[in-house]
Amino acid sequence: MDKKILDRYNLLKTKLIQWGQEYYENDTPSVDDAEYDQAMQTLLALEEQYPELISEDSPSQLIGGAVASGFSKYHHTQAMMSLGDAFSVEELEKFNQQISKVSNQIDNPYFAELKIDGLSIALIYEEGRLVTAATRGDGKIGENVTNNVRQIAAIPLTIPQKGHVEVRGEVYLPKAEFEKLNHHRLLNDEPLFANPRNAAAGTLRQLDPKIVRNRHLSAFIYYYYGDQKVASQSEAIAHLKTLGFPTNPEGKLCQNLTEVKTYIQEYSDKRNNLPYEIDGIVLKYNDFNLYDEIGYTAKVPKWAIAYKFPAEVKETTLLDIYGTVGRTGKITYNAKLNPVQLAGTNVGAATLNNAQFIQSLDLRIGGKVKVKKAGDIIPEVISISKGKTYANLPVFVPLTHCPVCDSLLEKNTGEVDQYCINIDCPAQIKRSIEHFASRGAQNIVGLGEMIVVQLYENEILTDVVGIYELKDKVDQLLALDKFGQKKVDNLLASIEKSKQNSLERVLFGLGIRHIGNKTALILAKEFRNLDTLMQTSSEAFALVEGVGEVVAESLVDWFNETRNQHVIQALKEHGLNFDYFDNSPVIPQTLTGQTWVITGTLSHPRQYFEAIIQARGGKTSSSVSAKTSYLLAGEMTGSKFNKAQELGVKILTEAEFNDLIK
Ligand code: NAD
Repeated sequence: MDKKILDRYNLLKTKLIQWGQEYYENDTPSVDDAEYDQAMQTLLALEEQYPELISEDSPSQLIGGAVASGFSKYHHTQAMMSLGDAFSVEELEKFNQQISKVSNQIDNPYFAELKIDGLSIALIYEEGRLVTAATRGDGKIGENVTNNVRQIAAIPLTIPQKGHVEVRGEVYLPKAEFEKLNHHRLLNDEPLFANPRNAAAGTLRQLDPKIVRNRHLSAFIYYYYGDQKVASQSEAIAHLKTLGFPTNPEGKLCQNLTEVKTYIQEYSDKRNNLPYEIDGIVLKYNDFNLYDEIGYTAKVPKWAIAYKFPAEVKETTLLDIYGTVGRTGKITYNAKLNPVQLAGTNVGAATLNNAQFIQSLDLRIGGKVKVKKAGDIIPEVISISKGKTYANLPVFVPLTHCPVCDSLLEKNTGEVDQYCINIDCPAQIKRSIEHFASRGAQNIVGLGEMIVVQLYENEILTDVVGIYELKDKVDQLLALDKFGQKKVDNLLASIEKSKQNSLERVLFGLGIRHIGNKTALILAKEFRNLDTLMQTSSEAFALVEGVGEVVAESLVDWFNETRNQHVIQALKEHGLNFDYFDNSPVIPQTLTGQTWVITGTLSHPRQYFEAIIQARGGKTSSSVSAKTSYLLAGEMTGSKFNKAQELGVKILTEAEFNDLIK
């Protein structure tokens, strides 16, 4: 084979593998889906032409990514597959022809569904109770995310069907929740999620179920496997509905490809008005009886296909480039655009990240740029159109001074971002007050973005400590526009209540660089109070799991600043709590010192009982010995049961066990 072709193939393969890891495992894609899809199409075309290129590790043969650390693995009993793609009507026609070869009909019935842009989930129910929820992972092994899935209100914990039932569907983040989440992250200088899909995947793979609950994920279920048989996808959806699962109301049984095309057209128009993101339409041949005959590839079923919507790109004029200052002083560059209609919204601004990004694209004010909505949400400038007059436009020059306070900007070695390091910069002060009061931090109701600006501009609130002095400024508050007695009372009550928060909230609220709410919780749990934290060395911080050197140094630097020490002292004088409260429910340790062995068939998987025993202080073992305290025995026991009898070990049935742990 020509070396050039081989090199091209290998380059594509390396890129796709890297992008796959970023997308599936880290939830931080560096390219958008259209670019990924295009590279994959080229790879597939090369593999079709030169089949000798295909290997087991080709991205064309692999599904998804590896299991994230922190979760146990779940082995799917039946592989969770991906879907084949179609990017044009011609490709759909080709798909239909393949189906016709098996069905012997020209017109084939397809159940058309919206392709929800979330992540796949498998839910396993035993005797009507949800026992396991797992992600797709690499198709064979997924992450066990049961505790997180229990936080999703749309997913039923019990269903009115006994026996073993497995259903599959998509967990997603509604558009409104996605926007709220990214807005919050923007204010806190945290990296934004590229689209709702990445946000949903990142959320479901959080180790703290409370964070999952607060982000309001939702779900649609579309596959059913259970003892009560159904013969088609339309019946499966109807049955899922009767079991209480959330099914997507837009699904429709189409009798032929013409009806499918109308459906696609309808939802290409309607998609921007839906409250959740979709990236295409899924067609499933409706009759299950032919599934085995139609068959599967290593990666996808051949009886279904995903029609992907094209990415929307528009050209417009770049009117201006301006910088804004974040809470930590980070400068973000933004583009002011001549407004264009894009994916259903009027886009007049886009983020440009940092100066390096602008320079690498050679963006120039007055030039024509191509704008895209990445993941159809965040507008992004992707390239410049170099017309005739382009060379005459002024080359972009990065800011040297803060756009708000005019102090000299700084750059840390090795970082591309510029920072305003003036702690008196009004932009930073407003952001830091707002962050301190925000939901994830002190949770002060009535002190959001607009109110902070209003209070700051009226010189009523000029720093974080001032929040706790507002009670002495009631007259000034009442004199403000739209401030009545009730609003003031509520605000002051919420401020008073915030004094009793657990340490991690105030620690996160202080806005120390690199301390997000997750790290704040780790630190609070480990060090229990602020005084200990302030006396801890960077070496000691770095030893804590989840706290790296960067975080450790940032903490020590922050606590060493005299100014910050004064802030803490003043907050202490206002009576703020600086201790960590462990709110997790205390489970009585009634099984401490006992060793349990589990045998036979029980109503839940063995891990379920092991978790109950371990949570109550007991140990579990796989073999019976003289040291065994109890044997929990289900139906159909074997040698362990006999040995326990021989040794005189106490044997409990499942019902007796349930009584014991009540
Ligand atoms: P996919 O997302 O193209 O399609 C399969 C998935 O669709 C299923 O696993 C299921 O989770 C989902 N789905 C949503 N609604 C459905 C419905 N009604 N019925 C059935 N399934 C439904 O395939 P994939 O393997 O999950 O991911 C591949 C795609 O992911 C690529 O085409 C690309 O767009 C994107 N990707 C992007 C990057 C990147 O760097 N931007 C990297 C890897 C993958």
